Amino acid sequence: MTKRYDTDVVIIGGGAVGICSAFYLRQRGFKVTVVDRDRVCGACSAANGGLIVPSYSIPLSSPGKIAKGLKWMLHPESPFSIKPRLDPALLRWMMLFQRASRPYRCRAGIPVLRDLNLGGLLQFQALQAGLPLDLELSHQGFLEVFRTRHGYEEGVEDARLLEGFGIIPEIVGSEAVAEMTGGRPTRAVGGIFYPQDAHIDPRRFVEQLATHVRGMGVEIRESTMVTGFRISGSRIRAVETDRGGISARHFVLAGGAWSPGIVTGLKIDLPMQPAKGYSVTFVRTDACPVIPVGLSEAKTVLTPLGERFRVAGTLEFAGFDESWGRRRVLSVVRSMCDYFPDIDPSAMAVEEIWQGFRPCSPDGLPYLGHTDAYDNLIVAAGHGMLGVTQAPISGLMAAQLAAGERPELNLTPLHPDRFRGLGLFSGAAGRPGTRRMES
Ligand SMILES: Cc1cc2nc3c(=O)[nH]c(=O)nc-3n(C[C@H](O)[C@H](O)[C@H](O)COP(=O)(O)OP(=O)(O)OC[C@H]3O[C@@H](n4cnc5c(N)ncnc54)[C@H](O)[C@@H]3O)c2cc1C
Repeated sequence: MTKRYDTDVVIIGGGAVGICSAFYLRQRGFKVTVVDRDRVCGACSAANGGLIVPSYSIPLSSPGKIAKGLKWMLHPESPFSIKPRLDPALLRWMMLFQRASRPYRCRAGIPVLRDLNLGGLLQFQALQAGLPLDLELSHQGFLEVFRTRHGYEEGVEDARLLEGFGIIPEIVGSEAVAEMTGGRPTRAVGGIFYPQDAHIDPRRFVEQLATHVRGMGVEIRESTMVTGFRISGSRIRAVETDRGGISARHFVLAGGAWSPGIVTGLKIDLPMQPAKGYSVTFVRTDACPVIPVGLSEAKTVLTPLGERFRVAGTLEFAGFDESWGRRRVLSVVRSMCDYFPDIDPSAMAVEEIWQGFRPCSPDGLPYLGHTDAYDNLIVAAGHGMLGVTQAPISGLMAAQLAAGERPELNLTPLHPDRFRGLGLFSGAAGRPGTRRMES
């Protein structure tokens, strides 16, 4: 008997989303091959903030963000920047972002993000309880703190909005902030505590799950780059890689910020921009907050990770520019002292300085589901600032789709083709070239 396919499912990308997809697909009996051009967890899933945050359920594309962004844009140490350039894809993305920022659209995104974030949290809990892994999932909640009265008032408004969608906030004063973070002085005027939130060391999570899925029989091919696709009608037959082709019945695109480039030439329109962020991981000292904290005005998060302590931030829309923005890294680190003056970074041992590219869609929602053009391509990409939080629920739904099961959540708002026909160069599916027709 001739073998029809090399494998049942090829997953493109071995980050948090790809590895979670591999787990849930294998659990359903599929033969799974993960392909990564680099190594497992070698990109954005590695040293990010590690927060699992239902409290981040207001989309980034929200009213007022553009005005704030423009104000910050020219400041070399600001937490947000766009490198000005005449790039049609960036211009279109910005136009779609602005469209998504309209109040009613932003509001419509909140329950969608909430369900994804809560779904992610639930799956993390199930993985922790059900697998023989030591994931160190921590349920300490998340405390957002504010230096300014104005910021605090805005934060309280957001908290009230989230409360209307079932996310419970506790509004606290500056004394409670000091107490909750470990009893050290703070310059914060107040805070909002989200008790449902959790955190994890993202690299530890993805690497442990990758080892586990290997044990379940998943093949992970590292240093293998997808370079194109073999298509027949409305089906993808195989991916082409720099190490040969792999045919399969289903394909999951989990290539993070590189996803649009990977499917260049296919009839798919995935507006996405990489947003660079940095993290610095220190050996913890007694001055570090003992629970995860968000420094609201600085757009920085602080995550305790056992004996280590991570500070992560900045959102830089500069394409795939891998240069190190020294001033921005320093400003992320310094922002800790603005809120917690006892922290002295110069006296702390640095373990790792890291950068990653968030895969940002214009409306802050991931692309999840089958595309219109191909019956057997499932997209699971574009998770932006929330790819750790949403990785397990996204992986679960990718597996449910492949298995023909009803997905856990309504996927309509996450449809990968939702921007087709909108904006500059509408419907542009990228440069032709990598698509190859089967003879
Ligand atoms: C500073 C910072 C802080 C963050 N903090 C948080 C947080 O606290 N909580 C949270 O939920 N999220 C956070 N995020 C966001 C989160 O890190 C991302 O959303 C998430 O890691 C995306 O996962 P992914 O699997 O989609 O992509 P990635 O982890 O980037 O994986 C994509 C993979 O695809 C591979 N690939 C690319 N091209 C090809 C190709 N041609 N062939 C084969 N493989 C290919 C890459 O090598 C890579 O391994 C943060 C991000 C940053 C930058």
